[in-house]
This record gives sequence, C-alpha cells and structure tokens, in this order.
Amino acid sequence: MIIRRAGSVDRITAARGTQLRCKGWRQEALLRMLENVLENGENQQELTVYAALAKAARNWDAYHAIVDTLKSLEEDETLVIQSGKPIGVMRTHRFAPMVIMANCNIVGKWATSENFYKYQELGLIVWGGLTAAAWQYIGSQGVIQGTYEIFQSIARMHFGGDLAGRFILTAGLGGMGGAQPLAGTMANAAILCVEVSEERIDKRIKVGYLQRKTADLDEALAWIREAVASRKSLSVGLLGNAADVYPELLRRGIVPDIVTDQTSAHDLVYGYVPSGYSLERVAEMRKKDPDKLKADAGASIAREVEAMLEFQRRGAIVFDNGNNIRTHAAQYGVKDAFDIVVFTEGFLRPLFARAIGPFRWVALSGDPEDIRTIDAYILEHFRDNDIATNWIRLASQYVPVEGLPARIGWFGHGDRTKLALAVNAMVREGKLKGPVAFSRDHLDAASMAHPNIMTENMKDGSDAISDWPLLNAMLNCSSMADLVAIHSGGGGYTGYMTSAGVTIVADGSRDSDIRLETTLNNDTGLGVLRYADAGYEESFDEIAKKGIRRVNV
Ligand code: NAD
Repeated sequence: MIIRRAGSVDRITAARGTQLRCKGWRQEALLRMLENVLENGENQQELTVYAALAKAARNWDAYHAIVDTLKSLEEDETLVIQSGKPIGVMRTHRFAPMVIMANCNIVGKWATSENFYKYQELGLIVWGGLTAAAWQYIGSQGVIQGTYEIFQSIARMHFGGDLAGRFILTAGLGGMGGAQPLAGTMANAAILCVEVSEERIDKRIKVGYLQRKTADLDEALAWIREAVASRKSLSVGLLGNAADVYPELLRRGIVPDIVTDQTSAHDLVYGYVPSGYSLERVAEMRKKDPDKLKADAGASIAREVEAMLEFQRRGAIVFDNGNNIRTHAAQYGVKDAFDIVVFTEGFLRPLFARAIGPFRWVALSGDPEDIRTIDAYILEHFRDNDIATNWIRLASQYVPVEGLPARIGWFGHGDRTKLALAVNAMVREGKLKGPVAFSRDHLDAASMAHPNIMTENMKDGSDAISDWPLLNAMLNCSSMADLVAIHSGGGGYTGYMTSAGVTIVADGSRDSDIRLETTLNNDTGLGVLRYADAGYEESFDEIAKKGIRRVNV
C-alpha cells in the first residue's frame, strides 16, 4: 500500500484487513511481508531495511515489478528473484513455493567487499541482510528475544540469575541494535547505549524501546549509577561515538558488568562511523575518499575493541554481538580481538543444538488482537516450555507493535509445528481476523554458516562449510514452503556468510496444514541433525526424544 504524503514522498506501509489485491492469500501474504519490511525499515527512500545496506529490493523499478507480479501470480506459479530483482514467472504446481530467491551470492574467490561494491554500483546485486530482501524483518523485535536470552544466560552464569543492580554498556541503536535497551530493561539491568545519530536515538524513544537520552556523559553516568544503586531497570541513549566513550570510561576507572557493541561494525564504508566524523562527513567521504574512510573506521574499531578487551581484563563480561567487530579489529592490528567470545558460542549454542531459535509470526490482518490471541494460546498450551512462556509474558507487556503486529518466540523442533498448526486452525475457525505468516531469522540452527558469528568454533571444525544452509533451502523447497531464500554476505560481510530463509503462510486451508507441518518439521529437524553431525550432546538427546531420523555413518 502506498500512502501519498503531502508535498513529496510516497510512504509504503503494509496493507491491513481482509481485502485481497492478489489472487490468493499466499501471494497477498508475501506482498504484505514485503511492504512490512519497508514500513519497519530504517531508510525507505533507499529501500534500506537495516544493517546499513540490507535492502528489500534491488531498486524501485524492481520493487514495483515485484508488487505487480505478486498481484497477478497464479497459485501454481513461482516467481524467481535474483538479488532483489524479479527475473521471471515459472509454471510449477500448487505445492511449490510462490517465491524463490537468491540474494548476493558471489563465487568464492570473487566474494570480496570491493567486488560487492562494484557489482552494486553496476546495479547487478543487492545485499539482502538476513531478513530484509527475504521480506521477513519485523522491526527491532526480530532480535529482541535473542538479546534478552543472552542477558539471561549471562545473569545465570555470572550474576546469580538476575541483572538487577548491573550495568550493561553497549553501542548502536539501529534497526537491530535498537532492541538492546528494551532487552536490557526486560532483564532488569541499567543499560547505556552509545549512538552517533540523534535521529536513531529519537526513533527508539518514539517506538518505546528506549527510555532516556542525553549528549552529556556525566549525566548519563549519574542516571546509570542511580539505577544500579536502587536496583531499578533503566535504558539511556548517549549521543556519542563508541570509539571515544569506551576508552573514556576506562580512563575514569569505570568497569561495567557487561560490555558489547551492536553498531554496524561489519561495514567500514557504509556502517561504522569513525571517531571525529559527523554523519555528513561520512556521507561526503563515501564519495570523495572511501579508502580513507575505511582506514579511519578500522582504526576507530581497533580502539573500541582494545577498550573492550581491557574491560574484559578488569572483570567485565564482554561479548561480540554478531557484527564482525572483532574481525575488523583484528585486521586493523588488534591481535587478541578473538579473546572476546561471540554471543552464539558463549551463550546460545545449547539452544541451537536443539534447534530452539528465533521463530516468528506476523498477523497479516494488522490487528494486534490476533497476536494477543496467539500469546494466550501459548501461555495455555506450552506450560512446560519455560523459555517460551516467560518470554511471551514479558513480550506481551513490554514489546510495542511496529508495522504489522508480530511476535518473536524461540521455539524448537515439534513446538514450532504444534503452534503453527494450532494457529492455522484458529484462522480456519475464524478465531483470528486474518491469516498469519510464519518465518524465522536466518540465524537459526540449520540455516546459517558464518564462521565469525553463528558457527565459530564448532566442535568438529565445520565453521565455514556452507552446505548446511544450501541443503536447508533445498529441503524447504521440497517441503512446500511459500518462500525460500538463499543469501550470502554483502558490504563488509562479503565472503563471510551464507544463510537461508523461509516463510510459510497459515491461511486456514488444509493445504497450509500440509505445508506448515512438513516445512517446520524439516527445517528444525535438519537443524538438530546439523549440530548432531558436529557432535553436540543436546542434539543426540533431541534426536532420541523426538524421533528424528538420523543416518549413522
Ligand atoms: P543499523 O545500520 O541499522 O544501525 C547501526 C547503528 O550504529 C546506527 O544507528 C549508527 O548510527 C550506529 N553507529 C555506527 N557507528 C557508530 C559508532 N562509532 N558509535 C556509536 N554508534 C555508531 O544496523 P543494525 O540493523 O542495528 O545492525 C547492527 C549490527 O548488528 C550489524 O552489524 C548487523 O549485521 C548486526 N546484527 C546482529 C544480529 C545478531 O543476531 N546478533 C542480528 C542482526 C544484526
């Protein structure tokens, strides 16, 4: 849906209600998901959804062509998309995916950020992030439970199970990093988030993810100190550069309890803002002297990571929050950057080994009541699942609606299927106002190879093997999912990762029952097998308990 704003810009928002513009709900659902990633995105004019460069489509012509094609797509056809551009429509069959896509995959030795920028400039490629080009982004909520579970895990491992009276230092309040302040307060902590862009700080305050802001470090620290002393939760956005603030805290002898960073440190040209640069200067330097900008960003990242290492030496719990910051720091001379643990290996791997990961659902009706109905179902029918019920209680209280109402929920093998089938029955019986789309982050058990994030230090050394996400995508096509995507890294992530995404629509039909059951069982089943193959005990236990069929070799 396009809303014409007075004067200039057309703003895209996702359609709501039950009126179809397409020939069926499956197509309509995917169209709304596409519109929704733009509605929630950081810079709609540029089609940028999050992480500096992750886009929903190649360009505006491609976007409009996708929209037109989805509107005319028959239920036995498949739309093929290459790096955000629609290529053709193929006759398949009614159980085939409606949309398949491959975004930003570059042949091995060519997969460098320099080549990526060149191909992007030539209009040949777009980086899809994980969920941007696959139309699965649901706003900052998409990573909030992951961030919350990390904090909870740290609380259990180091702070007697509770972060009340604890100080978390982090940076970056963008599309994903913006989840940190709310996750921090949900975990009872006092959290300080350093951010160079006032606009981003204001956006997080506006949507209810962040509580206070200041440009004055003394004021920020006074607020944090007060919250720590009274064991009250608090989130503060500090306007500043992390490369300056982190070393300054050390200089003052301040050591937070937990330190991380979620700036766009993965990209030295379009992401991380070097110390001493205004946002205008960064934009100017991108055109004038990208090599100098890159070198300055690298040097600033090195300073920040040196400070993170010193915090660690002084007793803080420090972790990499999935932005390649250690990789770039190491390239710019920080030899021991990898002494900092990555969040997956440090805190979440036992969950992934059981394929418990960031599952999510979107109410296509646009009515938040549908999400509340599903929340209530989970609280009643998943009573023995502490992770899920604890989260749903918190999320229903604290997580604001952004775009189409949605919910993230870390569920594993069997539970995802059980929930999705129940929701499909609710759609069928008219208990929800409209269909629901199920998807997940690409950062999930079977679907990502990322040797510096998801698969670092795997037990069997299989960190960089990308057969798994490719198998995952093929299996999800075979399992009749509605959308299947294969992504690789772009910008500063070029050459660092491959992942796969999947979306299935619960439109209330019996066909949807089949699609949901087959796809979700196989998606998580493969996840458990991937970790079993690498030797994780939790996976063997899951295989035995759930009857997953593993071939022993
Ligand atoms: P984004 O581009 O939307 O936001 C990044 C923010 O960092 C911006 O607001 C920017 O102004 C700020 N920033 C840049 N340099 C800074 C500096 N020196 N000091 C302070 N602030 C600075 O990106 P995003 O979507 O929020 O993602 C952030 C990073 O997290 C990316 O690298 C992304 O790939 C990664 N990520 C991790 C996970 C995960 O599961 N852990 C998930 C998604 C994204």
